[in-house]
Amino acid sequence: MGPVESGTGEQFAAAEQSAGGALEPKPTEAKPAEAKPAKTPAARKPGKQPGARGIGRTQVFQAHEERPHYPAVCAGCGRSLEPAGAVAYTGFQAVDLRWDDPARPGLTLWVVDHRYYEIPCACGHRTRAAAGQGVVDPLLGGIELREWRLVGPGLAALIVALSYRFRLSRARVREFLAEWLGLDLSIGTIHQTLHEAGAAVAPAEEELVQAVLDSALLHADETSWPEHGHLLWLWVFRSVTVTLYYVAGRGKELVTNVLDGFTGWLMSDGWGSYRDYPRRLRCWAHLIRKARGLAQSGDRNARAFGRLVLDPLEALMAAVYAAREGPPPVDLATQHASALTALRAACERRQHSDHAKTHALAVELLNDWDAIFQMLSHPELPLTNNEAERALRHWVILRKLSLGTRTPVGSRVVALLASVIDTCRQRGHTPWRYLERAIADRRAGLPLAALPQ
Ligand SMILES: [Zn+2]
Repeated sequence: MGPVESGTGEQFAAAEQSAGGALEPKPTEAKPAEAKPAKTPAARKPGKQPGARGIGRTQVFQAHEERPHYPAVCAGCGRSLEPAGAVAYTGFQAVDLRWDDPARPGLTLWVVDHRYYEIPCACGHRTRAAAGQGVVDPLLGGIELREWRLVGPGLAALIVALSYRFRLSRARVREFLAEWLGLDLSIGTIHQTLHEAGAAVAPAEEELVQAVLDSALLHADETSWPEHGHLLWLWVFRSVTVTLYYVAGRGKELVTNVLDGFTGWLMSDGWGSYRDYPRRLRCWAHLIRKARGLAQSGDRNARAFGRLVLDPLEALMAAVYAAREGPPPVDLATQHASALTALRAACERRQHSDHAKTHALAVELLNDWDAIFQMLSHPELPLTNNEAERALRHWVILRKLSLGTRTPVGSRVVALLASVIDTCRQRGHTPWRYLERAIADRRAGLPLAALPQ
């Protein structure tokens, strides 16, 4: 919160305007007579007017705590100010959550009356404390980070947890808060809280991308994600220390951007966007599933090809597992050279097959040959992409329940919060403490703290 010069109609109007926003808490009785500036406030602005009835909030609570906000220095002469002589000019009520106190387990709603004070200076200037305001990533247009909020940072973290970890719809979050905590929040306030939380953690993207680039082994995968009727994809990049999500198209652009500068191993499916990356691994589980499907096909030739693929893959997989126990005397690729040559020849014979699945598997093996058999020289590397698939599974269920997102901003919020939640969890930290602090700091205009390591 920074000092604001008083006495200019424009600033006074801005303060009132912010107080009158539909989803924000309206000022509590803040002795408006004392707060009134000498001049008349600026001309009426379009939109909801100060004093108009908000829809966000009907309850008024008895506060647990009154929190005063004083200006620290005079905006006129820079002298430091003492609270003596301070007059409250505005304020609002916030509902926050206290939890995780080992001495007192449970959830406690904590109501705070915030009071903003004006202090006169010997120089004649009157300076006002103002609610903090954070800077929002331009990609999240329309979201505002501000301290003047009904929902405190701890309660905001709970709303994110209920929405994205426990996958409750906005309506179910509202029901939970009303029936278990006696708190009546509108759907709009819940929605705004989620968006603000996403904006709060947006600067973490840089740190997450860096962790991805620093990974020795990265798992990548993607699943469909509808955004207001457009078919987009939820992408995941996951290593032992980080999980990074994006909602984007299925083209090469995202992979190229994210992996610019990455030099580790990349495990992925056969999607073409990954194909240009040189140190690539392929998930064997998919190939084995496809080969097994063919081996059980009704078509005799397809069945034969299925076996021709399945048998060497299973033998090689056993060899890889054995090599992890103790290094083989010769490189696995050399040891199994004749089986690999036979498999390649079988694929080349079928790459123009009329049988669609035979053709597809033969082409896939030939296209990704090096990526598939890379691990024969590196048996310590994984054979499956389970890490990425498991990470996506949680969000696939959210997608089924929520039917995706409605706007690019909504998609970005989900991807940012999903990245922070999953990265904190895999690092052995609860995401909610971090999120609470992130929201509090960023609303105050402070930088985002680094993710827990
Ligand atoms: Zn002064």
